[in-house]
Amino acid sequence: MSGLTAEVLGLKSVGKVYRNLGYEELFAHETDNAEGKVSANGTMMVDTGKFTGRSPKDKYFVKQAPSQDNIAWGNINKPVSAEIFDELYTEVIDYLSGKDIYVTDGYSGANPDTRKQVRFITEIAWQSHFVKNMFIRPDAADLPGFAPNFRVYNAAGLTNKNWEKHGLNSEVFVVFNIEKNIAIIGGTWYGGEMKKGIFTMMNYWLPLEKILSMHCSANVGHHQDVALFFGLSGTGKTTLSTDPRRKLIGDDEHGWDDQGIFNFEGGCYAKCIDLSADSEPEIYAAIKRNALLENVVSGPSGKVDYKDGSKTENTRVSYPIDHIENHEPSLKGGHPKNIIFLTCDAFGVLPPVSKLSKEQAMYYFLSGYTAKVAGTERGVTEPQATFSACFGEAFLPLHPTAYGQLLGEKMEQYGVNAYLVNTGWAGGGYGVGSRMSIKATRSCVNAILDGSIEEAEFEQTQFFNLSIPKQLPGVDTQLLNPRNAWSNKEEFDATAKKLAGMFVNNFKKYITNNADFDFTQAGPQV
Ligand code: ATP
Ligand code: MN
Repeated sequence: MSGLTAEVLGLKSVGKVYRNLGYEELFAHETDNAEGKVSANGTMMVDTGKFTGRSPKDKYFVKQAPSQDNIAWGNINKPVSAEIFDELYTEVIDYLSGKDIYVTDGYSGANPDTRKQVRFITEIAWQSHFVKNMFIRPDAADLPGFAPNFRVYNAAGLTNKNWEKHGLNSEVFVVFNIEKNIAIIGGTWYGGEMKKGIFTMMNYWLPLEKILSMHCSANVGHHQDVALFFGLSGTGKTTLSTDPRRKLIGDDEHGWDDQGIFNFEGGCYAKCIDLSADSEPEIYAAIKRNALLENVVSGPSGKVDYKDGSKTENTRVSYPIDHIENHEPSLKGGHPKNIIFLTCDAFGVLPPVSKLSKEQAMYYFLSGYTAKVAGTERGVTEPQATFSACFGEAFLPLHPTAYGQLLGEKMEQYGVNAYLVNTGWAGGGYGVGSRMSIKATRSCVNAILDGSIEEAEFEQTQFFNLSIPKQLPGVDTQLLNPRNAWSNKEEFDATAKKLAGMFVNNFKKYITNNADFDFTQAGPQV
């Protein structure tokens, strides 16, 4: 018995309610419902359907008092009226009513004082499995008293036929109603909408209580030294925080309060493309029973081919954090000693590692730069620069400077060191150079974390004025200064100048918005 009636769930009627099923029960449901296949080592594999990633253009907030005054409205945080919400909400409730449903209760935030109790109502077992992996799992004894602060109704199989009339982007919808503490999802099965949806809500709630919320991974060393790794998708948060020498606190979403840092989540969500046991042994080993593989391709025996990106390049696995042997069970740590901004610079211009001044740290945090390699169209080799404030603007309901201000204050208060690490290209841009090896990046990160980088002699780069070490243990000296790594120096200078110009252009908004955040002098000069 779930103990949950239709009324408690906000539904008109309900079939069977499967509440917080155990892993083996979920496995049985996934099998019986033919939701997935089982890999050679017993891991469930599902396809997420038409969408193999989030649909950021279909995300909305209800524009109403009082939250409307807090939200930074724009392309990322788009408004929808309370009337349209009510209409869609009614459709969602009608759609889910009478069905057999999966209810998954979980916490967001490892701190009992500030954690949020979140209830997910989904129509398929693997979505329940996904949120069970990703959120903090309540003890069975907590369930009778579980009082949701927020509910997510996931009606993945329902599309909004009236989207044009409503003035929305498509028939897919992901709508947050802050006052009602409800989110509704329709038209996409992708589980990441629930993960990053609650992250978005944490990014709304926490800064209003002076707690910083961050799109970063975190780990802790033997001397209780905590490190944070900020970065946009694909820059290495998950890969680099999973480190045999350090305990993993979390791979994606954290808060920073007066006690220190804490994970929001209870699991990890790792990329699988080209995954190998050699270069990422801990993540490879985490893919076992109870983990959930998404959109991977497997052979007849169930052996997964991690090189196969034919369904999507964004193949993923979610697993509970205890699948990483060396994790920190409290999901918490003290105030960070080091903050690393990760960027995957496909232009091949940024150095593998630079030490940042306080002002540079603010500049690079607000810039939130990474670059993707060009699409697959023939002849297109120019990388695509992305500037996403705080390395996660897509998930920030408040203005980026709200997070920037908190980060600046905390870094000052606790004397935190900041570094910029380029996990992207070296020796030339995409097509000429090659991506930095994970080994080389790890050596740079190790030098930061064990403090040995402080013993290096530093030099300054042109345009960006970044302080880079002249040599580091375990790193090819030729790589450390990107200009040395390029054979064509003129091309390097031209590319560096071009990228510097993009930074300058992007940062102009902070000069006009708020003079307190004019860190232009700390950025590149062209
Ligand atoms: P998301 O926010 O989407 O979870 P993320 O920042 O956690 O992204 P990762 O999952 O760590 O990103 O992805 C980094 C990817 O890049 C992995 O697939 C990893 O194998 C690959 N990679 C290749 N070279 C490097 C490198 N030098 N450093 C880090 N990762 C690298
Ligand atoms: Mn990640």
